[in-house]
Amino acid sequence: MQAWRLADTGGIDSYSLEEVPEPVPGRGEVRVALRTMGLNHLDIWVANGLPAPPTLPFIGGADGAGVIDAVGEGVSGFEIGDEVIVDPSFSCGRCGFCRNDDIVYCDDFGIMGEEVSGTFTEKVVIPTINAARKPAGVDWDTAGTFGLVSVTALRMLEKSRLMAGETVLVVGVGGGVSAAAFRYAKGRGAKVYVTSRSPEKIAWALSEGAVAGFDSAGEFGKEMTALGGADVVIDNVGPATLKQSMRAAKKGGRVVIVGATSGPKMELTLPVLWYRQLELIGSTMGNHAQFARALYLLSEGSARSPLDRMYGFDELPAALRYLDSGAQVGKVGLRLA
Ligand SMILES: [Zn+2]
Repeated sequence: MQAWRLADTGGIDSYSLEEVPEPVPGRGEVRVALRTMGLNHLDIWVANGLPAPPTLPFIGGADGAGVIDAVGEGVSGFEIGDEVIVDPSFSCGRCGFCRNDDIVYCDDFGIMGEEVSGTFTEKVVIPTINAARKPAGVDWDTAGTFGLVSVTALRMLEKSRLMAGETVLVVGVGGGVSAAAFRYAKGRGAKVYVTSRSPEKIAWALSEGAVAGFDSAGEFGKEMTALGGADVVIDNVGPATLKQSMRAAKKGGRVVIVGATSGPKMELTLPVLWYRQLELIGSTMGNHAQFARALYLLSEGSARSPLDRMYGFDELPAALRYLDSGAQVGKVGLRLA
């Protein structure tokens, strides 16, 4: 079978399509012949060595969906032919956090394509806990691409304690996690505002029910305050926008941070935090129950996952370059013939 492997951490061009042995499922594992797979910015960061892959050569990719074609010993509840979606979260399965399904706090928590060999391959072996049944009404393109961003966005919104009727500002709405958060916030009955540097992405959000959109590079904090402020601000951008995001929040508002695409460090004006009694909430990834909830919301239609474009399996470098260009709204993926 063929797999895209990183030979080194020299960037996107370090991925090459190679002939590799088919993996054999061990006890409690199934093998999935993938139909589609999703791309994430993580795949580019890993290709650049930040974070470094655990071994080289390394198969990247966190998202995928396909059909079980081999079953290991001791597996019950799954059979050859079952259609499944890969839930990319791995953990020790034994510690107190894992036993309570708070796997994101497990010392051994990791995801496929970063700490664990990933989905840019024709066939992948996963433990059954990582195999989620694909609902019949969910198409393969969506099934293979929605996972990582959706579980991340859902956890983030759950941690924000968003209520129906509240006002949400999604900063940088074009990114995969932000676009998913936008959908969930709409689905929960919130009034949703967005920012983007791209007029096309703001136009997309308005067509999907956003109340208004602002330029991410402008003083959107002031603009949002003039409209009453936001109960919840979702900022996945970091240093370039977080000051405006804090200004955009109402007194007592919650600002949720799930990433920092513009860099890891910044200065904060702390009195804004206490005079306005804001909460800064960090979030990352999600647990298996949140993956199941994200899948349920997808299947019942209240949180359709925005999909930008699918490439052929043999076009991974071009697809990653397109993702890196930032032109997309929603997910980019690969489709096996
Ligand atoms: Zn654990």
